[in-house]
Amino acid sequence: MRGPKGDQRLLRDYNRGLVVNLLRTDGPLSRADLARRTGLAPSALTQRIRDLIDEGLVTEAGKKEASTGRPPTLVSFNPDYASAIGVKIEGTLLRAARVNLAGEVRARYEEEFAPSPEPSKIISLVEKAAERLNAERILGVGISISGFVDTINGIDIYSPILGWENVDLVEPLEDRLDLPVHLENDVNALTLAERWHGAGVDYRNFVCMTVGEGVGAGVVVDGSLYRGAFGGAGEVGHMMIDPTGPKCRCGENGCLEVFASDQYLRREATRLAYADIDRMEQAARAGDAQAIDVFEKMGYYLGIGAKNLVNLLNPQAIVLGGERMEASDLFSPAFEAEVRGHSFAEAAKDLEIVPALLGEDGFLIGAATIVAAEFFRLPTERTLG
Ligand SMILES: [Zn+2]
Repeated sequence: MRGPKGDQRLLRDYNRGLVVNLLRTDGPLSRADLARRTGLAPSALTQRIRDLIDEGLVTEAGKKEASTGRPPTLVSFNPDYASAIGVKIEGTLLRAARVNLAGEVRARYEEEFAPSPEPSKIISLVEKAAERLNAERILGVGISISGFVDTINGIDIYSPILGWENVDLVEPLEDRLDLPVHLENDVNALTLAERWHGAGVDYRNFVCMTVGEGVGAGVVVDGSLYRGAFGGAGEVGHMMIDPTGPKCRCGENGCLEVFASDQYLRREATRLAYADIDRMEQAARAGDAQAIDVFEKMGYYLGIGAKNLVNLLNPQAIVLGGERMEASDLFSPAFEAEVRGHSFAEAAKDLEIVPALLGEDGFLIGAATIVAAEFFRLPTERTLG
């Protein structure tokens, strides 16, 4: 197992970490609030905050309203103290952004490339993106990619859209950039972004489902991303719905993706003689019963997939995201009806179903968040988000 390159960790001291993380998630706070919530002695706390202000990690942020006496000064976390670079590698496009510690995009870079690129091409494009987005105090680079990723060793094990198998992106990039580099599955990256900065901030147990070209899911258990033993958790698109169903691109029959994705919508658009998915969508919104039925079926099958997840994991919420969410008005009602109507007894009673908040940027923000999570990790916590 590879360790982080250099010691980027901010929080070598546990108490200092407590203060910074509390200000990051719940700030601004007064020194008295911080002392109460961390249990640190006021004198020790005052010294730590003075150090953090000197370093620029924390700033004083005005006065708190007080009914009597002198109003206490609030301190807040400075999200622009440092940033990370998030990258998403798509089939023919590399998108990158510099993201601050609050998950805000501060600068962008993108470049197209020819299909089925050599890994060396992508390595040089990531290097170029990192140069263009360079700023003071870059903590590292996170890369999100569709397919099966070995997060620990930074190996892209299998990526159909790039035609890659067992590609090591991380080690050559760390050597060139002299920064820590992390590789992550794209849906996991999106899930992490929603967990830290989006629809999942209030949930310690949730599933982020994505609908687009395929169907994916990221699973958050007890506040952390669950990657599985080999990094392949959350491949709900290949959950079998009907063993006698049509063949999936993975080689199996009747996977969820076959019934609920852009692949399904394209197939139905062709069968029913709509020019493309967009036209079929327009027809459905104009009241065309045949087109409405296509989207309702998709919602129904997605609901079956989600229901299986709910019965397995009993999450607080399902966060729905992905490119095809722009048609959610057409499939969400059938989806919700299926999930709520039939999930095993109490498992779905208080389940919340909410849209993802970060959109396409979630992939970039999530990739950067993998780096930031390492930065904020307390000395006792396990690695990687
Ligand atoms: Zn499949």
